[in-house]
Amino acid sequence: MRIEVNGIDLIKLLKEISSKTKIKSYIVGGVVRDFLLGVKNLDIDVVVEGDGIEFAYILLSYLKGDIVVYEAFRTATLSYDGISIDVISARKEYYERPAALPTIEFSNIYDDMARRDFTINTLAYDVIEEKILDYFNGLEDLKKGLIRVLHPKSFIDDPTRIFRAIRYATRYSFEIEEKTHNLMKDSIENIRLLSADRIRNEIFLILKESKAKEMIDKLIYYGIDKVIFDGITLNTQHLDTVYVNLEIELYRFLVLFYYLKESDINKIEKRLRVNKIYLKALKDLVFLREQLNCQNKNIRKIRETIEETKEEVLRAIEVMEGEKAEKIIKGKLTVKGKDIKNLGLPPSPLYGELMDNVFEAKINGIIATRDEEIAFLKKLIEKLKKGE
Ligand code: ATP
Repeated sequence: MRIEVNGIDLIKLLKEISSKTKIKSYIVGGVVRDFLLGVKNLDIDVVVEGDGIEFAYILLSYLKGDIVVYEAFRTATLSYDGISIDVISARKEYYERPAALPTIEFSNIYDDMARRDFTINTLAYDVIEEKILDYFNGLEDLKKGLIRVLHPKSFIDDPTRIFRAIRYATRYSFEIEEKTHNLMKDSIENIRLLSADRIRNEIFLILKESKAKEMIDKLIYYGIDKVIFDGITLNTQHLDTVYVNLEIELYRFLVLFYYLKESDINKIEKRLRVNKIYLKALKDLVFLREQLNCQNKNIRKIRETIEETKEEVLRAIEVMEGEKAEKIIKGKLTVKGKDIKNLGLPPSPLYGELMDNVFEAKINGIIATRDEEIAFLKKLIEKLKKGE
């Protein structure tokens, strides 16, 4: 295994620091798993048997970069462009009640692996001995392509692992091992015990994945959508579409809730506690979708919404509605109030009406370019001045 950060061999460096400080360090989890699978992974987790923050500062003195420290867990994150290194103090976890966050105790590498979700994530590379520690048969499961929990209470302790199992199984085309699968199915109802923040986090992790559609299809297959969003229909059509320069989570979030009823917007707000930007985008989406499909259109509000809403909203509507949406979206105006002012009309409520007229002309294909918008405005203003 070789990982290079800022031109430095990370494993060699960890070995040197561990030898000097007598603090043992291990590269663990996703990066080891993905290295063995031949998949690129730039999120490196390092577990140390000692103080993670102290160790991280020593690492920083060699690697430079930025550091963020989390006092409570004695953990730190170093970052370089595109690469992050989490330095974690080895710990043991106890779950006092189902779905609660665990209490922790600092410990050793074995206990740190034993708190993990699946066997394929329990592989630790010992930098001193230069070998992989495999306490839970992770190597065999990785070879067989199996997602397996470490103990029968795993999903009860932490139901977010249900989402994680689906994510890993789909991402790597692995199977969920039979007993794990049964345990998982028995714990679906426990997802109700998770906080909105934790559920949102899991949903958005899925939406970032390239096989997002397949993963959401599996959530639906297991009835997880009913537990989280009871009664709200999820849309998985076009979920895998990717656009460059779009915020993929926002775009896919909007596609996922494309058929949301206006009266259910507050349910999403409550269940997922999405931020104000996402909520506003969702409201704009629902408004535009309804307007597209109704006879009496509110031209003023459509124009204003199209002008100020996020690009992701427009792309989501376009992908779902095709031509019908394209026609309205291409009506987005380039002219602003100040263009009307430059044409010699003092500010007044007429501005809104003029803009609506230009918008309608653009939707109907009478005009298309900015020059044509200005020329059209000019004509409207002349007519107005003549009192027509
Ligand atoms: P990804 O490629 O999705 O980032 P990852 O394995 O690096 O995968 P992270 O979410 O970054 O996943 O978590 C790092 C490690 O922490 C995992 O490999 C796993 O061992 C452990 N972990 C994360 N979440 C949980 C959880 N809910 N329960 C137990 N272990 C977890």
